[in-house]
Amino acid sequence: NYAIGIDIGGTKIALGLVSSDGQVLSKTSLSTDLSLHPSDMVDKIAEAANRLLSDEGLQQADLKGIGIGAPGPLNTKLGQISEPPNLPNWWNFPIIHSFKRHFQLPIVLENDATAAALAEKWTGAAKAVDHFIYITISTGIGAGIYSHGSVLTGATGNAGDIGHIVIDSSRGTCSCGQRGCFEYIASGTAIAREASSLLGRSVTSKEVFELALSGQDPAMESLVHRVFGYIGAGCVTLINTFDPELLIFGGGVSQVGEPLFEAIRNYIKLHALNPSGRNTPVVPAALQQNAGLIGAAALIHTNY
Ligand code: ADP
Ligand code: ZN
Repeated sequence: NYAIGIDIGGTKIALGLVSSDGQVLSKTSLSTDLSLHPSDMVDKIAEAANRLLSDEGLQQADLKGIGIGAPGPLNTKLGQISEPPNLPNWWNFPIIHSFKRHFQLPIVLENDATAAALAEKWTGAAKAVDHFIYITISTGIGAGIYSHGSVLTGATGNAGDIGHIVIDSSRGTCSCGQRGCFEYIASGTAIAREASSLLGRSVTSKEVFELALSGQDPAMESLVHRVFGYIGAGCVTLINTFDPELLIFGGGVSQVGEPLFEAIRNYIKLHALNPSGRNTPVVPAALQQNAGLIGAAALIHTNY
């Protein structure tokens, strides 16, 4: 039995044919063309999905359903995208309805971080735990919260949008209007913005970490140290709120790897309130590349 998992992002849309044991049989991707109306983009995705099927000698009748992971804010109750900043022309787009034009199958929508958490539970780093949080630090910051053996979606699929927890209100104003939001001060975007302004030239967050961790640039070192503290503080808030057994990190910035994870572990050890929370394991995501589409397929294959 098969599902199509579709991971919608601001730059690309990945889709794959996924078996009921979580194997990706085949996959493809399209670049997100923001000059197209989203329903035309859906037509292209459907065409690509049908091609994945026919290449494997399958047809729609062989599918259990279609899972879609998309950036928030969205509204899973209404089956629509709401107001994701990276998909401006998709605002209020009824995505499930649009896919139903092509597939008379169950179609399920959740936010992308929730889907990634489900993927890690299904075939990744969280197989053995019933309480964990998947945190992505990328262009923005988001989380999928898994508690008591199921994922916490909230009423409309937006639970886990931790990017807008206020971490340091002495800092600048976020797009949401609050000061010092987690993603405004600790995302890849934030790191690059701040470093570029300090250095007087444009740098990526990857370069910032290279400069800082090789000890070449004291200003970058102190910036990275500050960011590690912000991420640590975000994690302590999550540990104190949800009492997870494990934190899993994905997203571009998590490629920094051990220096980041070690700093987070040290911060948690000092500041988590509950003694058992102070030793919460911090690990990288197991399914980096395919997490989005496997998670989307998990919406169909698992009882989340
Ligand atoms: P998206 O946000 O589109 O899902 P990514 O998860 O790749 O994309 O995150 C992109 C962000 O991560 C960018 O800000 C980028 O600069 C940063 N990034 C990517 N690779 C690294 C790296 N190796 N080290 C630090 N930052 C990185
Ligand atoms: Zn905010």
